Parts: sequence; C-alpha cells; structure tokens
Amino acid sequence: MKYVSTRGSAPVLDFEGVLLAGLAEDGGLYVPQEWPAFSAAELRAMRGLSYVEIAERVMRPFLGSAISDADFARIVRDSYETFDHRAVTPLKQLDSNFWLLELFHGPTLAFKDVALQLLGRLFDHVLTRRGERVTIVGATSGDTGSAAIEACRDRAAIDIFILHPKGRTSEVQRRQMTSVLSSNVHNIALEGTFDDCQDQVKAMFNDPAFRARQNLSAVNSINWARIMAQIIYYIAAGVALGAPDRRIAFSVPTGNFGNVYAAYAAKQTGLPVEKLIVGSNRNDILTRFFRSGEMKIEGVEPSLSPSMDIQVSSNFERLLFDLLDRDGALVADTMKGFRAAGSFKVGDNQLGRASALFAAHRIDDTETKAVIRAVHGETGEILDPHTAVGVGAGRAISLDPDIAVVALACAHPAKFPDAVEAATGIRPALPPRLADLFEREERVAVLPNDLATVQDYISEKTGRKEAV
Ligand SMILES: *Cc1c(COP(=O)(O)O)cnc(C)c1O
Repeated sequence: MKYVSTRGSAPVLDFEGVLLAGLAEDGGLYVPQEWPAFSAAELRAMRGLSYVEIAERVMRPFLGSAISDADFARIVRDSYETFDHRAVTPLKQLDSNFWLLELFHGPTLAFKDVALQLLGRLFDHVLTRRGERVTIVGATSGDTGSAAIEACRDRAAIDIFILHPKGRTSEVQRRQMTSVLSSNVHNIALEGTFDDCQDQVKAMFNDPAFRARQNLSAVNSINWARIMAQIIYYIAAGVALGAPDRRIAFSVPTGNFGNVYAAYAAKQTGLPVEKLIVGSNRNDILTRFFRSGEMKIEGVEPSLSPSMDIQVSSNFERLLFDLLDRDGALVADTMKGFRAAGSFKVGDNQLGRASALFAAHRIDDTETKAVIRAVHGETGEILDPHTAVGVGAGRAISLDPDIAVVALACAHPAKFPDAVEAATGIRPALPPRLADLFEREERVAVLPNDLATVQDYISEKTGRKEAV
C-alpha cells in the first residue's frame, strides 16, 4: 500500500513512512493511493467476529509488508485489552431505528483512545526495530493530553512530555495525566495559559538543534494511522447491524473531521453508507460549508463540547482532495488561498457530490442540554455533551425510515459532569476503573513560562544534553 500527499508534491510513502512522518513534507496529509476493497461476502463474513479479529482484517491491507502478521495481531490484541468492555465499541439501542456506538470504554473515557492505544504501540514497535527513540512533546488544554499519555506510557522507545496550563484544567483532567507514574511520562504544569503551552511546543519544534538532539515527534491528529484505526468501528458496527444487507447512516459530532472522515474511508473500502451526518456545536464552520460550499473562518467561542471548539478542521483536506479529483496542486492552491483569505469556496459540482453523502446540522448549547435531558427521560441513558450534538443532529436530519442511524458516543458523561448535571440534575459517577482517581498519587513538574527552563528540564529527563 502506497500513500500520497493531498498536496501532491511530497514523496509517496509506505505505511511505516506515513506512520512516522505524520504531516507530509509539502504540508499535506497522507491518504492511500488506492482504497482496498472489501466485497459484500467479506463483510458478511465479519459478522460475529470479535473486534480484534475485525480490526486485523480491516487494517491488514493498509499496512503492506511493514509489520508481520504475528506482530500486528499481538499489537492489536494488546491495544484493545485496555478497554473495559468486551465488545470494545458496543452498540446500544435508543429507539426502533437509532443506535449509540459507544467509543468511550478506553483508559481515558474518550474516543481518542481507540486510535491512540494502537498508534502508541505501532510507533514503539517500528522505532524499536529501527533502533530509534523519540521524544514526544505536546500541549493540552486538558482533553487530549491524557489520551496521548495513556498511549505512550511504558513504551520503551518513547519519552512523552505533556504541557498543561497550571490550574486551568479540571481536576479530573489533571489527575488523569499526573497520576500516570510511568518513568517515561513527564507532566509539566506551565505557569501560563494553554496558548503559552502551545507556543512552547512550537518553539521547540522550531529549534533545529534541540529538535534533532531530542528526536522530537508528535502524536498528531492528522496521522494516517489514527484514521485507519477509526475505520474499524464503523465496519464493526455496520456488520453487527446487518450491513451490507441493511442501509446505515452515521451521525458524528465533529471537530477536526478525523472521525467522520474515517466513516467516509469505511465507505470507500466497501461498507454501504447511506448518509454521514456532521454534527457541529456553535462553532459551525462545517455546517455552513455543507450548506453553501464556502469554508469560512470565524472566531471560536467556548461551548459545552470543548473538543469540537475548532476554527478549522484539518482533516477536511482529505475529503477536499477527493472532491477536487485528487488534484494535489489544486488542493495546495486552495489551502494557500484559505490561509491568506480565511475562506475558500468549492463549485456546485463539488458541493453536489459532497451533499450526496454528507448532511450537517448545528446544535447549540441550549439544544445540547435539551437533547441530554430528552434522551435521559426517554431511555435512562446519560449522554455527554459531544455525544448529544451527534444525537441531536442525527434526529434533525430526516432519512428514509428503513435506514438505521448510528450516533457516535465520543466521551463518557463523567468527563463533562457540569454540563450533564445542568441538563439532568444528575452528576455522573466515574466508572470503576477511575473510581479511585482522587486518591492516586500525582507527579508533575511546575515550570515557569520560559523556553530555556522547559528545554533544560526535557534534556535532563531524556539524558540528551547539549555537548559542552
Ligand atoms: C476529538 C473529539 C471530537 C471531535 O472529533 P474529530 O475527529 O476531531 O472530528 C468529538 N468529541 C470528543 C469527545 C472528542 O474527544
């Protein structure tokens, strides 16, 4: 399997190359040169298989010869053993033709675990074989740091440093990061804001000597391997509900467009998908795009679903590449114009093709709370605010009644207890695996907002110091 960049001028790479590269050299995102295809018979044969078995079958063609079958089987098994539900991503029925696909049974209670648990192990495996070691640095406002830490903890070829703004994350978010005591995990509470944390990380990547000495890397949200790992649960859910002999739609609460793009990828590999519903919160750039064909940046405002508070959706470029008939030069031009002008518009032809598969709907904070309240009243299920956006959008778009609608449940409600309590009066409890979170020992270094101090700290911990 070969991968090409959406901007057309970076080298064509194999799986191992795209795994380690993340972003392509030309600023584009890697996508498969050709989609592997699963026949209807192959999909039917996946019914009743375990998640791990489906994962192996679905991902195998994307890997090429990068990793042996036996190694890959072990990596997949280990990745999903960390989930506390035997089905890994179970389906739950909410209505006669409406399901939730629960993606939050991993170590940090959010759907990022599904891809990151695999990505951390794939990274470690490939690096170990090459005799390399990387230093991963990242900034978090609280939501994604813990998923990256859980993915990299105890991996021999990785040191991970996560910067969070001191005192500005919730206590649950902080403790999910700082209570991981593995020797390769380093939490830094920076005396500053989230923007300061991001600036520090950017500055480290922009310091060529430091970057080379530490062999800096990132577990990027645009890494192809993350998309690949997310294709599995669409296929697993589809075949469980009767695909390819049943019509299915997915409703996806969307931020960076990674998750819903994986649904699009599942369709390209052969899963029949009737509709992909993109749920936006008040930051509705994508809903506006699917209505008008114009992608236009506006400011970001905080909402009840912070993981979807985005200005631009980086993974959208992968869909744009296909809408522009895989013309990398045209994508590069379009993205350059987007950067400069803050907007771009696709033609009627492209918008028509996009709208044949995608629909989009915006659910604001008031509606989000109303959905949480309504679903709780109707079914007893408690949704987190991100999930509520997907469920609300899924209910708002009308489809043929025989189409099964699957809404993606992207976080456990206990991750966002304030919004859930405001909607239902119930404060959701942490699941058993995190019940003792508030008693766990924490380890964190408090550092001033000063680049040299942070770099010295990292050098000290990795033992990769400047030659004197
Ligand atoms: C990351 C995240 C999203 C958005 O997913 P994208 O792949 O960025 O579109 C939605 N909900 C939750 C809980 C998330 O963590």
